[in-house]
Amino acid sequence: MHTMRVLIQCLIVAAILFGVISSILRKKKTLALTGMLLAIAATALGGSSVRINDNLQGGLGIGLDWFLLDMLLMAIIYVPLERLWPQYPKQGTFRNEWTLDVVYFRSTHLPIQILSFLVLLPSIQATKYLGVPALQGFIGRIPWLLQFFLAIVVADVTEYFVHLAFHKVPFLWRFHAVHHSSKALDWIAGSRSHFVDDTLVRGLVLAPLMLGFSQSVALAYLIFVTLHATWVHCNFGPNAKWLERFLVMPRYHHWHHTSQKEGIDKNFAIHFPWIDKVFGTYHFPDTWPVHYGLDGEEISPNFLGQTIDPFIGRKRTP
Ligand SMILES: [Zn+2]
Ligand SMILES: [Zn+2]
Repeated sequence: MHTMRVLIQCLIVAAILFGVISSILRKKKTLALTGMLLAIAATALGGSSVRINDNLQGGLGIGLDWFLLDMLLMAIIYVPLERLWPQYPKQGTFRNEWTLDVVYFRSTHLPIQILSFLVLLPSIQATKYLGVPALQGFIGRIPWLLQFFLAIVVADVTEYFVHLAFHKVPFLWRFHAVHHSSKALDWIAGSRSHFVDDTLVRGLVLAPLMLGFSQSVALAYLIFVTLHATWVHCNFGPNAKWLERFLVMPRYHHWHHTSQKEGIDKNFAIHFPWIDKVFGTYHFPDTWPVHYGLDGEEISPNFLGQTIDPFIGRKRTP
């Protein structure tokens, strides 16, 4: 608890400090002032020595804490990589529509993380009941690392077909179009996803894992998919030729997000490019795509519209 409070105090001080630096360096002062105001408000409300009246158990409090920690951790991992080796240096961290994606980050990560703790964990517990004992016994005898690899293969093949359905079934596409509406990709653009899309994909991908894999493998997969799915959206230029043939790197998934004809309905796999090779949907030239986003379609520019429109089938004219 003490360490946590020290950490929070450091963050508040850092927020004010960065606010001052940003207001000196940047032409637009809104961001810096908002940051400083929030940090000052946090200090006024008690700062890091704020009293906790009740025991912290679930509820909104833990959701918000988790969101901030999650966002901070992801930003610490990915933002420096994107700043150091960007594919599109002019894009910047605070690109167009980044605030929309923060809303998505909050709306998808928050329920999904809570879901992971409140629903998925018990349902991983349900492995005991859903599991096929013979299969569990067989997989359980394989070395753990191999089990983990096998789980990623099973999950990605399942993801392939669910993802394909989201592209090919017009009703499902309405939901998935939200994810494809980003005109520039980076770590946080990957969060832009309708909750129906997110929930269905997560649920259907986890289901086969529960039949034969242990809890520890399923959990390891959850952590892996969170990190890797964020990574493949990054604005990160360097390529490792030997690796990108085996593991999905940003350039591969960027081709999935292009609005150029050649890349439409290609590269559905999230982890292994060879799955697309097997099913004939592989497209991976040596270059990067030039244009991103929807191909001749227009969707609502705001979160509320993007959330409601797919249900009622409201169309916007480009
Ligand atoms: Zn897609
Ligand atoms: Zn994507």
